[in-house]
Amino acid sequence: MFKSSIVRKFHELKTLPPPKVLKQKLDDYIIGQEKPKKILSVAVYNHYLKIKDREEKVQNVSQLDLLKARYQNEVDKLAIAKERAKNDFSSAGNNNQGTPVPATTQEFEIGLKSMKARISAQEEKIAHSDFQLQLAKSNIMLIGPSGSGKTMLTTTMAKHLHVPISISDCTQLTQAGYTGDDVHEVIKRLLINSNYSKDLCEKGIVVLDEVDKLAKKKSKDSGGKDVSGEGVQQSLLKLLEGHQVEFYLDRPVDPKEADRQLRKTGVHSPMSIREHYSINTENILFVLSGAFVGLDKIVYRRLNPQLSDEEFNEIKNYEFIINSNDNKVSTLSLAQPEDLVNFGLIPEMIGRVPIVTALEPLEESDLFNILSKPKNSFVKQYEYIFQKIGITLKFTSKALKKISKWALINKTGARGLKSILERVLLECNYDCPESGIRYILITEKNVNHIIKESGHSLKIGESEPIKYYSRADQDLFRIEAAKEDKELEKDLDKLFGTTPTIK
Ligand code: ADP
Repeated sequence: MFKSSIVRKFHELKTLPPPKVLKQKLDDYIIGQEKPKKILSVAVYNHYLKIKDREEKVQNVSQLDLLKARYQNEVDKLAIAKERAKNDFSSAGNNNQGTPVPATTQEFEIGLKSMKARISAQEEKIAHSDFQLQLAKSNIMLIGPSGSGKTMLTTTMAKHLHVPISISDCTQLTQAGYTGDDVHEVIKRLLINSNYSKDLCEKGIVVLDEVDKLAKKKSKDSGGKDVSGEGVQQSLLKLLEGHQVEFYLDRPVDPKEADRQLRKTGVHSPMSIREHYSINTENILFVLSGAFVGLDKIVYRRLNPQLSDEEFNEIKNYEFIINSNDNKVSTLSLAQPEDLVNFGLIPEMIGRVPIVTALEPLEESDLFNILSKPKNSFVKQYEYIFQKIGITLKFTSKALKKISKWALINKTGARGLKSILERVLLECNYDCPESGIRYILITEKNVNHIIKESGHSLKIGESEPIKYYSRADQDLFRIEAAKEDKELEKDLDKLFGTTPTIK
């Protein structure tokens, strides 16, 4: 549930971090993907700058209205004071002489003058800010293979900015009237993640994952009919642009509130209350993402019109392209809106998502870094879990390299790393709790052993099962670690003090 402190923090967006700071935050958690990180940081910054700008303008206008109302109030009070002074003076029998101005009315007039000056300054501020100028919304499209970090990029950003986020799978969405989730579901989800705060929801982020699955089928594949994908694309258009969405939602009753009610009235309140919500999607940032399998081929074809169909079909890999500077670049990074239209997204949809960026396919070295470098890397997470049961778990870098190689061959991106680690550590997870085991070292041979057991065709060298070490075996554990990884040896020296000598 979204905590109220987070809600408060978002309202402090007055201190919106600049794109450089946003990107640095992403760097802490996400390996590589330099260009998408930069593009996302700039786009998100501009988006919230636009919201702030709009809020400031509205605030300036309401401040002006307030100042004017106060001014008018003071003018009325002054008129009454003058009238009263005149009447008092007349009733004292001074009809033929001019009414003297009492000191309080003079003070009033000085106050009015300064209010008038503030009103003029405020009017000038509004005139300069060009109230009518509305900054256009820029939704974002993230293209990239599964497990390359698309979702992670957006969720990390939302977390850092303390804005609510909802992630919806487009394959679950259907056109209104069909069985499945109506597109309004994505906004309902965001409202729930905003702790039912309309204000917060209207500034949140909606991730529409697997948007590529909404691509129009080519008529030859579908017999000319396409009731699914294209219909959903059409339904999403209004949301993407900015639309008032109306719906009913059951809001759970706060248990404390229910308790209070019970004590006050003696009646149990319901668990939830059905409420009507009207959410404006104008300031909601939509991040569309998908793997777009086959888009690289479309881009490759556009960039190589000189190739005959035969030559083109002979190409084995469309993933990379050699650019005019003789550099190897990812083909998807060169995708243009026209390629997305060719892929099957409708032009109206692409028009509403002006920022398109592609994530690079992860290479073996990226996977290796993902395993251990980010602040909450998989390895750090597992080491932490084992530490909780009193065990020092360490991986040698050779073991991590082997795991990366395995994940690369499986083509499951970074997501595959987690399932491999689960596999590697299955026996340890089973054996260790409430045992005398104190140290576990995962070496390359141990990973080879698991690969061999899994029946994978990956070429491996020597293999052996994972060894466990007791408290008395600390030196042995360190010696084994030092044999395979000098950096790990240094880390263990820091952790345990002097190095044991190899016997
Ligand atoms: P996608 O949305 O592209 O399918 P995800 O963002 O869900 O991929 O990535 C799956 C998991 O893999 C993430 O939770 C994260 O732990 C890890 N991951 C993926 N890419 C990266 C990266 N570039 N840096 C660090 N971790 C990554």
